[in-house]
Amino acid sequence: GSTSVGPGLDALPLRDDLRGRLPYGAPQIDVPVRLNTNENSYPLPEPAALAVVAALALEVRQLNRYPDREFTALRTALATYLGHDLTADQVWAANGSNEVLLHLFQAFGGPGRTALGFTPAYSMHPNIAATSATAWVDGLRGAPSGQFDLTAESAAEQVARHDPDLVMLCSPNNPTGTALGLDVVTAVYDATDRAVVVVDEAYAEFARTGTASALTLLPGRERLVVTRTMSKAFALAGARLGYLAADPAVCDALRLVRLPYHLSSLTQAAALAAVRHAPDLLGSVQVLREQRDRIVTELAGLGLAPVPSDANFVLFGGLADPVATWQALLEHGVLVRDVGIPGHLRVTAGNPDETSAFLTALTRVLEETP
Ligand code: PMP
Repeated sequence: GSTSVGPGLDALPLRDDLRGRLPYGAPQIDVPVRLNTNENSYPLPEPAALAVVAALALEVRQLNRYPDREFTALRTALATYLGHDLTADQVWAANGSNEVLLHLFQAFGGPGRTALGFTPAYSMHPNIAATSATAWVDGLRGAPSGQFDLTAESAAEQVARHDPDLVMLCSPNNPTGTALGLDVVTAVYDATDRAVVVVDEAYAEFARTGTASALTLLPGRERLVVTRTMSKAFALAGARLGYLAADPAVCDALRLVRLPYHLSSLTQAAALAAVRHAPDLLGSVQVLREQRDRIVTELAGLGLAPVPSDANFVLFGGLADPVATWQALLEHGVLVRDVGIPGHLRVTAGNPDETSAFLTALTRVLEETP
């Protein structure tokens, strides 16, 4: 997409460590069935949409003023939504949880520091490490069961061995969908007396019954951080609002790196109206969970190897040529994600019609491919 008229990127005094890197690039292709970025397929329900519009209309008249730098009303509402006796001073927010993660890397990573993650996990974790000049260590998932599990023993041993400044956990994990047991989080936390331990819970609301959030572990653990987003369950990806819960001191650290007024008054108003309509907005979660479970069941029936999921997507293996399958699905109007794991693709659970379209297309594609 570059339209440079000069000698281009190579001629610029770009940071050496950025040379040769590619921008984040999940394809944004206009096809009937888009199941590639784990968005929520359901638009905002009408009452919530109207409440957002009304809140924005009020803010528009005050756009001559900078927003509340402390986004206090929003932090208070998010604390109430999260529960667990959390208070506003334990909540931080930014433009998507990607920016929340960037703030964490800016404050606790940086040159001369190291972050440890457990691959395969969210690809932006190493990416944000790179752009914040934080060294990245790819930890391993002990996968004896072939389901990308991470055991407490293995995780704790790797933390002790690498002695990182930041540990990135992801639960439910993107792209595998697997959630971590709380024993893994506590083992990681106890394996270091100095690292900030981040649990990226972008998909928490989709978890199956019995899967617990690391929010329950926050009391007494001042280096533990749990990040969330309104992009998935809240169906608000376009508004860009991510947040976290942690000790108030962690939020104070992030105040040192955020840009002044980083959350626009429009973003704050939209997000606040949306949080106040949480039950309404989260109404799609149950049907998406059901579609997720349906995908797991039906893919197994097709002889594929779906990974059990606590998220709104399913990673599935057993494909001889995932690139060819991805392309063939696209020709049937269905966009899924090739996450670069050999033999696998990832599909987002859509509404029942989209899920049917995916399953029908995949069935055809598998029949066509010898
Ligand atoms: N964490 C994980 C695990 C994700 O999958 C995503 C979105 N793909 C994000 C964070 C970032 O989402 P957002 O910036 O929209 O909050």
